[in-house]
Amino acid sequence: MCRHLGYVGPAVPLKEFLFDLPHALSRQAWAPRDMRGGGTINADGFGAGWYPPGAATPIRYRSAMPIWTDSALPALAAATTSGALLAAVRSATAGMPVTETAAAPFTDGRWLFSHNGVVRGWPGSIAGLAGDLPVEDLLTLDAPTDSAALWALVRARLRAGWPPAKAVAEVVAEVLAVAPQSRLNLLLTDGAQLIATTAGHALSVRSGGGAVLIASEPLDADPSWQSIPDGRLVVATPSRLDIS
Ligand code: GLN
Repeated sequence: MCRHLGYVGPAVPLKEFLFDLPHALSRQAWAPRDMRGGGTINADGFGAGWYPPGAATPIRYRSAMPIWTDSALPALAAATTSGALLAAVRSATAGMPVTETAAAPFTDGRWLFSHNGVVRGWPGSIAGLAGDLPVEDLLTLDAPTDSAALWALVRARLRAGWPPAKAVAEVVAEVLAVAPQSRLNLLLTDGAQLIATTAGHALSVRSGGGAVLIASEPLDADPSWQSIPDGRLVVATPSRLDIS
């Protein structure tokens, strides 16, 4: 299933995470080490969102193509430096469309969001939860996918002023209650903090030195990577890491 990563810390060129590190996201796209739930490679699109210096809202670049086929991306990623990044490569769940708009990150205002996993029994299983959303939210979903629907559920709570960790944790709990066995590794950032969940998929974190990096798979052999057990909520800033 998809692989995603989030970074907050000193500004670095995006290419470090997308291409340069030994197990960078582009490598995780075609040679992932820990795929679960039936996928083999992540060739159904990719996306990256980052915050230009001084900007509160991110720039997003995404595509329905495999990340390794985008001939403009290496130079773009080399020339673009940011202190916060959320990026993902996608392996579409069977039956879901392969379109640019189905690739993470999803965005709203200052937020960037990604989902690694699947909602079991989608869409019927979560119809009751989606029914609580304003109808405009349903009519303006990015794509007819489980991930876009999860984003609508999180986004509604963020727009209502919920603390982001509470919004993410509650959506995971509510979806698991109606769609057990779902895999719900969510990742959210506003450029200052990273919020992540583990529910059915791998996740690792490397923090220290005034930076934090959260990723489906470690990007290098640095011994400070720690694997996050299943069923956790991670809230991280460059100076603080909470795993609950
Ligand atoms: N189910 C989501 C999709 O199809 C995410 C897939 C994944 O994690 N591989 O877009």
